[in-house]
Amino acid sequence: MTAKPHQRERAVEFVRDLRRYLEQLREDGTEYLLIARGKDSDPAPAVPRSAAARPPPLRQVEEAVRRCRRCRLAGTRKQSVPGEGGMRKSVMFVGEGPGEQEDLSGRPFVGRAGKLLDKMIAAIGLSRDDVYITNIVKCRPPGNRDPKPDEVVACWPYLEKQIAVLSPKVLVALGSPAAKTLLDTDEGISRLRGKVHDFEGTPLIATYHPAFLLRAYTVENRTKAWEDMKLVRKTLDGK
Ligand code: SF4
Repeated sequence: MTAKPHQRERAVEFVRDLRRYLEQLREDGTEYLLIARGKDSDPAPAVPRSAAARPPPLRQVEEAVRRCRRCRLAGTRKQSVPGEGGMRKSVMFVGEGPGEQEDLSGRPFVGRAGKLLDKMIAAIGLSRDDVYITNIVKCRPPGNRDPKPDEVVACWPYLEKQIAVLSPKVLVALGSPAAKTLLDTDEGISRLRGKVHDFEGTPLIATYHPAFLLRAYTVENRTKAWEDMKLVRKTLDGK
């Protein structure tokens, strides 16, 4: 049976109201929803809010990344790593590419570097649910080598779409390759960090990659990374 125009309008309105309600729940700190399947069935398992709330276009990008074979990295990866997060506070972190642990788990920034990134995020009063985390290339370059220019070009439309869908208030480039790609420059991270750049109208702050910080865990580097994260917080707060 075909829905009449006014029925369709009411359905669209209902979905819009439902979305507003779900957003409100999330703002209020509700982390789980129970979805009933029907009057005779048991309630469905709890669904994490961050998974349920991701907009459909973002899920489409993530699905496309999981199936993607656009570049040679598809031949050596175990699985692609589209990105994850809740975006409650509209900050997007972009690294260079997945490492070994990420390739195995399908999740960005896990392992030691991921734990350090979690601490950096927590230091400015945010959590993984507040931010989206992804990479320039979504598949692991063999041996953790830098992604090649043609791999970056092949993978770029996914990041472009993620940025367009999520429309972050602040972008954070983690490490030199990510900063160079996003800012289209040859300058290194030590010259790019410490200031607010512009990425097509979105403030962008570059800082050290957590993996670099683990390798060069000096007071000087940690202080600089902390200054960068404070700049992220200030920019997010509009100061
Ligand atoms: S790196 Fe990007 S372009 Fe290459 S196969 Fe993976 S998802 Fe596709």
